[in-house]
Amino acid sequence: MLEKPEWLKRTFRDNSNLNYVREMLSELHLNTICDEAMCPNYVECFSKKTATFMILGVNCTRNCRFCNVTNREPQKVDVDEPNRVAEAVSKLGLKYVVITSVTRDDLPDGGAAHFAATIRAIHKSCPDTAVEVLIPDFQGNQEALKIVADASPEVISHNIETVKSLYDQVRPQAIYERSLEVLKNIKLFAPSIRSKTGIMLGLGEKDTQVYEVMEDLRAVGCEFLTIGQYLAPSMEHYPVQEYITPEQFDRYGEIAKEKGFAFVASAPFVRSSYNAAEALEREV
Ligand code: SF4
Repeated sequence: MLEKPEWLKRTFRDNSNLNYVREMLSELHLNTICDEAMCPNYVECFSKKTATFMILGVNCTRNCRFCNVTNREPQKVDVDEPNRVAEAVSKLGLKYVVITSVTRDDLPDGGAAHFAATIRAIHKSCPDTAVEVLIPDFQGNQEALKIVADASPEVISHNIETVKSLYDQVRPQAIYERSLEVLKNIKLFAPSIRSKTGIMLGLGEKDTQVYEVMEDLRAVGCEFLTIGQYLAPSMEHYPVQEYITPEQFDRYGEIAKEKGFAFVASAPFVRSSYNAAEALEREV
């Protein structure tokens, strides 16, 4: 196992709102990807009173080798969850919120209607709040994507996660081209909705392959890009192959901007939902 470099060892001392956020999530019976994915930024994000809500349960129908979310029997869809997410957004006073889900290949629409209900509930109770949904690929189901787009979130995100050649090892139930197709269809079905994706580095990809992904993403009109360091949640997960230096992240960021993305965040601790509001505020 590779030893973590200095730039990945950090402590975040301000944990002022941590308990408040935790208690509220527990009272409202809501889940976050921050907890389920053991995100390294959760102290910082919770302290800023922000979190990424994970709807449709905590059990995923897929088994990606980088992800900490459990692959178990999926849970019953909780029809009141959209209202409780909206209540949490209101209590936290969020002006921008990211909603994601486990992958629900067991549902005919992949959970699209539940996403749409959540977007509508938030917009109804918090009309000034921008909503970003980080969606699964819905197995390429275009009708499902349209259901989400029709609910008019401000941003639809779908993570490409890694380079094409690593899909079989890292995301065995996903297909690189299908993920690109999802991103293409976002702009096709709803040109005014911003499209976004994220990629993790350190899985063994070559820099030329990263540039190829950037080009493929631009070719389907993807507008916002996040690039961050992959960290293995446990010894059982796909092992980290390399720690990318902060300088190299900066270089990738510059190259991505040159390739035409409207917003790029590239740094070791960047996650697709990290400081997500910035993309709409600071598009280049
Ligand atoms: S970066 Fe995203 S997933 Fe991680 S703690 Fe912050 S909001 Fe949650």
